[in-house]
Amino acid sequence: MIKISKPSGIEAHVAIIGGSGLYDPDMVEDPVEVKVYTPFGEPSDFITVGKIKGIRVAFLPRHGRGHRIPPHLINYRANIWALKSLGVKWILSISAVGSLREDYKPGDFVVPDQFIDMTKCRTYSFFDGAVVAHVSMADPFCEDLRRKVIGVSKKLGYQVHDKGTYICIEGPRFSTRAESRVWREVFKADIIGMTLVPEVNLACEAELCYAVLAMVTDYDVWAEKPVTAEEVERIMKQNVERAKNVIKEIVPMLSGEPSPEKCSCCRALRYAIV
Ligand SMILES: [Zn+2]
Repeated sequence: MIKISKPSGIEAHVAIIGGSGLYDPDMVEDPVEVKVYTPFGEPSDFITVGKIKGIRVAFLPRHGRGHRIPPHLINYRANIWALKSLGVKWILSISAVGSLREDYKPGDFVVPDQFIDMTKCRTYSFFDGAVVAHVSMADPFCEDLRRKVIGVSKKLGYQVHDKGTYICIEGPRFSTRAESRVWREVFKADIIGMTLVPEVNLACEAELCYAVLAMVTDYDVWAEKPVTAEEVERIMKQNVERAKNVIKEIVPMLSGEPSPEKCSCCRALRYAIV
């Protein structure tokens, strides 16, 4: 494997942003590690560019290899900018989450269709200067990509929930019991994590098709079900293996360009610039 700054000519069509547990892009063939510099600084790590079943892919570990970067310090703008600059059209984001409902069990997949933002001090937009833009977030995820992820997960025989509201908290601490009760009983959120926002906002501003494969690792503190570290470890390993299988199946389905008939992601800025 060679390490180089991004030269022109290195391109990718599909990006995978790997979350907790998924750092090793061993499913990428002919990998080249690319360092991309952006106006917003450096992405979380080198981006591995290669192929899966003939399709050019880019893999970026969100927390950096070895999980060096906590959720509130990730340079989300550099990450999305870097992927866009490689020519990426589709982003599948892989994320470990806690469950806020009994029937979303550890080991299940959730493909969220909504989110609630409870983060506090992140940088949410590429547009913080001369140009003002308000993108629509009514339906924040690419419905076309969501449908594909759900279909592949079902085909592989995995338990997958096709709807869910992801509440994104600031972290890096976990919720108190009182907070967890609010998320669950008042906000009616289904899963909880720390990294969706502003990744999803920025993907939208960059007019990229973006969806999340959320892997439930445990119940949040509301459940008061103590789980052992070994159990969490076992679920994480199983989730990561399954996520890799989903990635191998889904990438060939994303060989084409996003279609304006199937989603509006690629036109997100049309009515957003003030
Ligand atoms: Zn889309």
